[in-house]
Amino acid sequence: MTKKEKIFNKFNGKCCICGVELVKFHKNMGEDYKRMFTIDHIKPISLGGSNDIDNLRPMCQRCNSIRNNKAGERRIKIIKDRKYIKDYEMKFIIDDICNGLITKSDIQELKEELLNIYEDTLNKIDTLSVNLFK
Ligand SMILES: [Zn+2]
Repeated sequence: MTKKEKIFNKFNGKCCICGVELVKFHKNMGEDYKRMFTIDHIKPISLGGSNDIDNLRPMCQRCNSIRNNKAGERRIKIIKDRKYIKDYEMKFIIDDICNGLITKSDIQELKEELLNIYEDTLNKIDTLSVNLFK
């Protein structure tokens, strides 16, 4: 079995993030392309990750393009600057925590940021509903 095949089989031919059934070759640029098998570095090369099979896993093209190089600290910084979090980003954050890419203080910072983001939203909802449902 080639290294590529071993990686493909690690999650039974499924994406390690979203679980979609991966296609090895895509026929068009539509749905097949999004489900295309790509190889992800658990710890990115840019953060000192290696090309060892232990650091590689199967990911669909869609998740891989979202993950990009934005692991760990970098993702947290983006969320903080942007002041909101997208649903799928939670998956990547949990994934980063599982893979040790986020330090304890990063996690604390992220939690505070999430509380801020949701507190703002909840306050807006409160203000709006007070005015709407007088
Ligand atoms: Zn995926």
